[in-house]
Amino acid sequence: MSTKADYIGRFAPSPSGPLHFGSLVAALASYLDARSQGGSWLLRMEDLDPSREPPEAAALILSTLDVFGLHWDGTVLCQSQRLAAYAEALADLQDRGLVYGCDCSRLQIQAIGGVYDGRCRQRQLLNSAGALRVVVPDDTVLFVDAIQGQQQQSLLKECGDFVLRRKDGLIAYQLAVVVDDFFQQVTHIVRGSDLLASTPRQLYLQRLLGFPTPHYAHIPVAVNGSGQKLSKQHFATPLDQQYPAAQLLEALRFLGQSPDTDLAGAPPEVLLAWGVIHWDIQAVPKLATIPIQPDR
Ligand SMILES: [Zn+2]
Repeated sequence: MSTKADYIGRFAPSPSGPLHFGSLVAALASYLDARSQGGSWLLRMEDLDPSREPPEAAALILSTLDVFGLHWDGTVLCQSQRLAAYAEALADLQDRGLVYGCDCSRLQIQAIGGVYDGRCRQRQLLNSAGALRVVVPDDTVLFVDAIQGQQQQSLLKECGDFVLRRKDGLIAYQLAVVVDDFFQQVTHIVRGSDLLASTPRQLYLQRLLGFPTPHYAHIPVAVNGSGQKLSKQHFATPLDQQYPAAQLLEALRFLGQSPDTDLAGAPPEVLLAWGVIHWDIQAVPKLATIPIQPDR
């Protein structure tokens, strides 16, 4: 890493398609929060599921960020290159008896209400071809989110023992993200509120693995008229590389910032420089979702 700052932030898209307005908002918020505190801003490709990743998507994400003036520090970390690190963390937890095999089907878990009840804990399926789950304790995880405020979750009652390695052999998001945030020495995580409910699982894994816990801030997620998160799955309109400035202005306003009216027509660099100086995380709406115009 070229800079050693007290603040290290990151943007971590999965290359399952082009960036859309919702991704721009997440990238911009994490960028402005980092740069306004003199921090570095890293980029990570969460490319653990090749079946969902068109080959050109990662390169398109990089070129889009570039056009929008969102320049990252250092080299891009690709999760697909990090499998050995995930295996090592998993083996550490396995050695400590915290992980067990589970061959329950999705239907079985739905039938018990979606919260896994630990029914495979004593079955000794460890070397089976099923999923691997981590044992969670019966206590409440507490943390303060810089935007959404005080949070709490009972892992046992609201989530249950959760998957670290999926049945198909893919490393689960929860484990990969924790291992990589530690590896990249990330101190501040700014991301969409759709991940707020995942955070207690990540805090728990950090504690198990002896990693420090970063600061968290969860921004509202842009949703369409039906309340669905803008996503590649819902065919959100890709960002238009022809008009980065207009979309950046809109993203600033979405985040509750109040760009001066004379910034209309300014290039991305000017908008971002304004954003870095004026970034006010307390102005970000303390909401889980914000609906946006249907043409997105
Ligand atoms: Zn099971």
